[in-house]
Amino acid sequence: MRSEQDLVRLRELATLFLARKEFFGADDLLVTDKMAVAIAAQAALPILNLGLDLYEGFVGIVVHRDQVLARREEVDDDGVVHQFDEELSGEAMQGGPVMLSWRDVEAAGDSCEWGYNVAIHEFAHVIDMADGAANGTPPMPDRNTRDRWQQVMESAYKRFCMTVQKRRPSDLDPYAAHSIDEFFAVTSESFFVDPISLQSEFPDVYALLRTYYAQDPAGCMAP
Ligand SMILES: [Zn+2]
Repeated sequence: MRSEQDLVRLRELATLFLARKEFFGADDLLVTDKMAVAIAAQAALPILNLGLDLYEGFVGIVVHRDQVLARREEVDDDGVVHQFDEELSGEAMQGGPVMLSWRDVEAAGDSCEWGYNVAIHEFAHVIDMADGAANGTPPMPDRNTRDRWQQVMESAYKRFCMTVQKRRPSDLDPYAAHSIDEFFAVTSESFFVDPISLQSEFPDVYALLRTYYAQDPAGCMAP
């Protein structure tokens, strides 16, 4: 259980978030107060003990009814361009608005079991990019902390890529093997919604995130 103090702070942060951010509905979707509050509440969670400044890089939140198809292009090692459609439940861009699929945000309560939470995922990307680079390393207080962070995350990321490659079982979404910044976003999701699984599979990553976010969700769940 979270302390009364945490809950008060979460409400304060969510209120400030609502005051500073602008919500837009895509395709005439009406973003109701209830929807905005639900998004603000999830956005407030990761920054509970870090502060709202990490979200200064964006103002707008674009809410879609459902997932969005985005046309993608990737160039392979032989220089061949591949085009494909990617289904997005959310997206965060440097300096741009945060996009969220309402259907996915709404399902957040039901999807705790498998550690899925699109809002926390996208806001983790925003936190990562707060220092100007989407590289899986959020702003760090000093170089030592940064080096230690990269060491732990990169080694866990490589381990996880191997797990996915060899099709070994894991509670972590395989999407985390896409890149180091996705690894940070997915482990952050898991940290907040399925902390016990993350702690048992990646104790080093859990400990790193616990120090960074200054929260202990697995401890909160202990009887
Ligand atoms: Zn992502």
